[in-house]
Amino acid sequence: MNKKLKIAILTSGGDAPGMNAAIRAIVLACNRYNYDCIGVYHGYNGLINADIAKLKIEAVNNIIQQGGTLLKSARCPELRTKTGVQQAINTLIKEQIDALIVIGGDGSFTGLLAIAEQWRGQVIGLPGTIDNDLDGTDYTIGFATAINTAIEAIDKIRDTANAFDRVFIVELMGRNSGHIAFNVGVACAAEQIISFENFHPSQAEDKLAELAEEIYAEQKSKDNSYLVVLAENLWPGGAMHLAEQLKEQFNIDCAACVLGHIQRGGSPVAKDRILATKLGVGAVQAIKVGKSLLMLGERDNEIVEVALSETIKHSKTVNENLVAAQQNILALTARSN
Ligand code: ATP
Repeated sequence: MNKKLKIAILTSGGDAPGMNAAIRAIVLACNRYNYDCIGVYHGYNGLINADIAKLKIEAVNNIIQQGGTLLKSARCPELRTKTGVQQAINTLIKEQIDALIVIGGDGSFTGLLAIAEQWRGQVIGLPGTIDNDLDGTDYTIGFATAINTAIEAIDKIRDTANAFDRVFIVELMGRNSGHIAFNVGVACAAEQIISFENFHPSQAEDKLAELAEEIYAEQKSKDNSYLVVLAENLWPGGAMHLAEQLKEQFNIDCAACVLGHIQRGGSPVAKDRILATKLGVGAVQAIKVGKSLLMLGERDNEIVEVALSETIKHSKTVNENLVAAQQNILALTARSN
């Protein structure tokens, strides 16, 4: 007979819609195999402080449709220290945990690998971040919902922008990657996308002049709004500063809007629920057959296993075809009119 395993789960880093669906799937799969499932609260803090509880199947009723995470998430600076890692391992040993599943981004996986260096249990990572920047998976849990949320918000902004023929700059999340900005910008027919793939802060002065010229031309030739989608952590001083620069240097009035944490919340869309569910079940099945040190992801609609050490080496880049289409065709359409 197979050993009765004790599997712990935690969610770490920025929360992402669909994390609850993954937790639910893990709990259901543990139940199916008669394993104990232990919830660890507040990310790695819960391991360090032994803030844990058995997750019964009833706990995951009615959570698939909820954003956020039942287990709470957190940053945990202590895990970056040797003492913190040791404290986390002490809890795992004391609680006789056989395997740990972490749902988070590359930082969370780096922490998981630090634990795995000195702990003999199995470790599995599931990609849970709205940023979609994890290498080895086509999509991360939360990305689909985050871009849909941003698209809905920008469609509303476009309505009011159209009514006044206004210029809007909308700053989107994504940390240091442009998956959200590029995909949302294309989906909202933004006149300009300023993101990591097509802009470096050293080009700010030239970009400002180009923007001003294009906005003048656009507004002279037709009654229209003009939308700039900007990735966060990129333009010096962010969207607000860009708006001030356009006003001060070119007398262009524009409204700046930082969409912020609204992109993290909300009920997960079908794509995130299904991805999270497949990966949650897959994680328990991988543990069942003795696997470890892997991230489970999805490529071409198939579940894939990628070494955790590989996923943290590089960030996944934005699809080149999308960037090229925006640069060579979509953006030029506005300029040529
Ligand atoms: P997101 O990109 O969505 O915010 P993330 O997992 O990359 O997700 P981080 O804040 O980078 O988010 O990391 C989450 C947690 O992982 C940190 O608070 C810390 O506990 C742990 N962690 C990150 N980097 C390391 C590291 N180098 N060593 C040990 N632990 C780490």
